[in-house]
Amino acid sequence: MTTLDVVRTAAARVEDAVKVYGAGATRVRALDHVTVDFPAGRFTAVMGPSGSGKSTLMHCAAGLDTLSAGSAYIGDIELGTLNDRRLTVLRRERIGFVFQAFNLVPTLTVRENITLPLDLAGAAPDRAWLDVLIDTVGLGDRLHHRPSELSGGQQQRVAVARALAGRPRVVFADEPTGNLDSRAGAEVLGLLRRAVDEMGQAVVMVTHDPVAAGYADEALFLADGRLVDRMAKPSADRVLDRLKAFERGRS
Ligand code: ADP
Ligand code: MG
Repeated sequence: MTTLDVVRTAAARVEDAVKVYGAGATRVRALDHVTVDFPAGRFTAVMGPSGSGKSTLMHCAAGLDTLSAGSAYIGDIELGTLNDRRLTVLRRERIGFVFQAFNLVPTLTVRENITLPLDLAGAAPDRAWLDVLIDTVGLGDRLHHRPSELSGGQQQRVAVARALAGRPRVVFADEPTGNLDSRAGAEVLGLLRRAVDEMGQAVVMVTHDPVAAGYADEALFLADGRLVDRMAKPSADRVLDRLKAFERGRS
């Protein structure tokens, strides 16, 4: 495959990405020449120690922050070529987000939260698709509840349904299970897994939890802003071993 083909087929991609924060003594190189693609139908876990650049990679790949050098693509659109308005539209229409804090709107019902991105975009919801999503997240009997009436796991499942509602090219999730107990976390991870398997979704998930990474098709490992390793079909045990090996290597 040529580079151009990869650019065409990846749901998201960063190429030779560099991100520098600050200047002088406080200058930090949070991304140091990272190239990686996130294809449709693949669940990618991004791992690495605290401060290794995981969130920065996600934010720059998703157009929430800009690179200092290199390029970020959603589909074949290079984010650096877009003005703020076009970037906002692209984020709304092509990208789904799930954050550690569920970020639901407390005054809206479950159903209104799920359709919020579509409502903001002025897009008519695809009712059949919404029914599938609501069925998949298992919240059919909670549609008229407010987020405060739901458990943490239920709230995060609403956030996942919201991220999927507009059939985005890619869903980015930053520590989506960080605030959940293991059972609720498993529900959310199972839901992301189904979005990949049954809907062909591209999912990119930042996590430091080897169990969470075990749901992914591939795990990427960052250290000091560099992509230092990748593992196909990761299992929790193998990921844990790899993380331990990195720590031994660093000390
Ligand atoms: P991770 O998500 O892996 O914990 P981050 O991407 O948040 O790592 O951070 C990578 C590096 O960039 C860290 O050294 C962090 O302190 C620094 N950093 C992140 N965001 C900012 C910012 N807005 N301003 C300055 N430095 C930042
Ligand atoms: Mg982070």
